[in-house]
Amino acid sequence: MHFARLRLSGFKSFVDPTDVTIEPGLTGVVGPNGCGKSNLVEALRWAMGENSARRMRGQEMDDVIFGGTTGRAARNLAEVTITLDNADRGAPGWDHADSIEITRRIERGTGSDYRINGKLVRARDVQLLFQDNASGPASPALVSQGRIAAMISARPAERRQVLEEAAGITGLHSRRHEAELR
Ligand code: ATP
Ligand code: MG
Repeated sequence: MHFARLRLSGFKSFVDPTDVTIEPGLTGVVGPNGCGKSNLVEALRWAMGENSARRMRGQEMDDVIFGGTTGRAARNLAEVTITLDNADRGAPGWDHADSIEITRRIERGTGSDYRINGKLVRARDVQLLFQDNASGPASPALVSQGRIAAMISARPAERRQVLEEAAGITGLHSRRHEAELR
């Protein structure tokens, strides 16, 4: 499965409804400092179930809701929808669906809820979609700005481990190791 589309509304700096198509292959997001590039990546992580406000660069989860600027009032709602292309039937438990829409919505003071293809679900159901260790909000494939410097100064063996986790092949190595022991 892969990301096909990202829609945001009231999320961080994306106060107006924003719809981003993600084509297969490499996608670059470019723009001046502070224009919202990291916020887009955070929107992906948030909709996949990120539950730490600190990892969303906030004090509390309500901080993901548009907080207002000079001339624009704060909002009370934020919503992010990810569309997953599931043509390869890679999503666990979703053998019948060509595409999967995950929506997370938060209302100021009342917390957030999740929907999959329009149906209210538990946070756990969203986590189950991303249960392999290469995807989801804690995926090592998502390298935050702060971690880039740490990766550069890491020892080669550590760096290799991060890359293998990101590529989702760590499990293959341990299974091969098991096979060699037999
Ligand atoms: P850089 O190139 O410096 O990494 P960036 O494009 O990654 O910048 P972001 O960090 O995504 O930029 O966006 C930062 C902007 O988002 C800031 O202007 C900040 O005020 C704004 N922002 C973050 N949270 C909110 C919020 N809740 N409400 C309104 N604006 C917000
Ligand atoms: Mg950034």
